[in-house]
Amino acid sequence: MNKDLKDKTLDELERLVVELGQKKYVAKYLFSFLHAEDARTIADITPLSKAFRQTLGERGYFISLLKTLDCPVDADGSRKYLFELADGERIEAVLLRDGDRQTLCVSTQVGCAMGCAFCATGRIELRRNLTAGEITDQVNRAQADAGKIHNVVYMGMGEPFENYDAVLKSVRILNHASGKNIGIRHITISTCGIAPAIVRLADENVQPRLAISLNASSDTLRARMMPIARRYPLSELLEAVGAYQAKTKQRVTFEYVLIDGLNDSTAQARQLVKLLHGISCNVNLIEHNPYSGCALAGSSRDRIARFASILKDAGVETVTRFKLGRRIKAACGQLQAGYGRS
Ligand code: SF4
Repeated sequence: MNKDLKDKTLDELERLVVELGQKKYVAKYLFSFLHAEDARTIADITPLSKAFRQTLGERGYFISLLKTLDCPVDADGSRKYLFELADGERIEAVLLRDGDRQTLCVSTQVGCAMGCAFCATGRIELRRNLTAGEITDQVNRAQADAGKIHNVVYMGMGEPFENYDAVLKSVRILNHASGKNIGIRHITISTCGIAPAIVRLADENVQPRLAISLNASSDTLRARMMPIARRYPLSELLEAVGAYQAKTKQRVTFEYVLIDGLNDSTAQARQLVKLLHGISCNVNLIEHNPYSGCALAGSSRDRIARFASILKDAGVETVTRFKLGRRIKAACGQLQAGYGRS
């Protein structure tokens, strides 16, 4: 059993404190000090009796804490955190500023097994999944450094649905009113397209936003860019989206990283319009931020504008995300935590 108190939902803490002879309400103090007050040691949780704090320590319970190794800041205010985990592994999280709103892009795995061609993380082998405590602590550390985090996107290192249980647990922890209290519609899970997990998400009692990294409108091209497309072709992926929407009535976001000469032609834009016809969605066009050693170049701003206008003219709600944090390589698919070449 993981004895990291930060890794537990309020329900789990309630069961734990009762098991240790305390009243159930004591768990709320514990949870709130961990997630709202960012307590770093059990001794800091002063509403708990000294004897109970001692019992927790004696039973091997602890509070995990990510170590910030580096935090470069870009001219536009973006920050990239390099964190070290207790076992020495490293992950990254990226903070993006939009006016007075701050969004943190968190990692869910050390490395990633999905191997997307445009992604720096995909070049690092999967080392392990993160725990819910390690996911939520990225928010704690960034908030302690940069102030209130308003939005959390699961779009850093790793495929969130390959670590489904810990990811959903961390969503529940971040969303809880006694903790960070981040609104569920301000939390977005982004997947490369694990179709069965999309269907599974529809049955959860929390409904964060769902984003799907699409990047191509044909199976052939998508499979070249994203190996997962061989496992879940577009028909299966969109069928899963249909099942998800039938249950949740939620719009989804499709992300599309524009690569020069690969997926950015006018014909491909029209094909995308056809593919998304009838789906309640919006499209985020993302300017590719090539990393060293990446053979794929980003589309020019002219080509991005032309692609966007075809989508918009066809009535598809489209937002173009230009590079933020370019100097610190803070874009989707740019995180490699010092494992790859930068
Ligand atoms: S884009 Fe996401 S799913 Fe694909 S390799 Fe990178 S981290 Fe993994």
